[in-house]
Amino acid sequence: MKTWITSSGSTITKVLSGRSNVFLLTNSGSSILIDSGIGRRWPALKRRLLKLGIQHVDYLVLTHAHFDHVNNAGNIAGHFGAKVMIHEAEAEYLAEGKMVMISSSDAFIRSMIKTLSGYSFMQIACKPCPYDIKFNDRFDLSPMGFRAYIMHTPGHSQGSSSVIVDDEIAIVGDAMFGVFPWSVHPPFLQDEKQLIESWKKLLDTGCSLFLPSHGTANTGKLLARNYYRRINV
Ligand SMILES: [Zn+2]
Ligand SMILES: [Zn+2]
Repeated sequence: MKTWITSSGSTITKVLSGRSNVFLLTNSGSSILIDSGIGRRWPALKRRLLKLGIQHVDYLVLTHAHFDHVNNAGNIAGHFGAKVMIHEAEAEYLAEGKMVMISSSDAFIRSMIKTLSGYSFMQIACKPCPYDIKFNDRFDLSPMGFRAYIMHTPGHSQGSSSVIVDDEIAIVGDAMFGVFPWSVHPPFLQDEKQLIESWKKLLDTGCSLFLPSHGTANTGKLLARNYYRRINV
């Protein structure tokens, strides 16, 4: 499992990869899991947490309420005792098991979503899970033992949020994708303008590494190149 260590001694471990990444943030016995992956990866997720010696998770931060991020939230709360945290804009979607609408800036992808999946698919794809804590623009994680905070980075979805650790590494959910070497742009999103503004917020944190939920880490350089290309058109 790939790990990163920041200057305050926080360890970030990529517990699950493949369809969706799941990250574990630990420091001095405190633990936060970021996202929970798709339902059928539950046995692997559970096994890997136990292998790391994790019997209890303090908090589960959901970057947004898409099924590939939230479908093990109930399992993590039930088996590891985690308190579930999500942005207020998507908390009710999570509680009711409805998926936040997705779209695309690309007309072809938009028509594909409509043809292949349709609204009904998006409505049934999420497992409902009660939440414990709703956050909004910014949520300080220092009382939980981390030099870190949650920052609202909407665009991919209304409530999309990122976890900023030591102003060095950001865990960004789907605010960026890490599957194309030249682009961080997610193929699906709700609001392009908001997304680009969120990229600016992420750049301004000073982080040099951005860990997305899909694919591998993006550098600050690549993010800056993508951002300035978009605002200069
Ligand atoms: Zn998503
Ligand atoms: Zn996703």
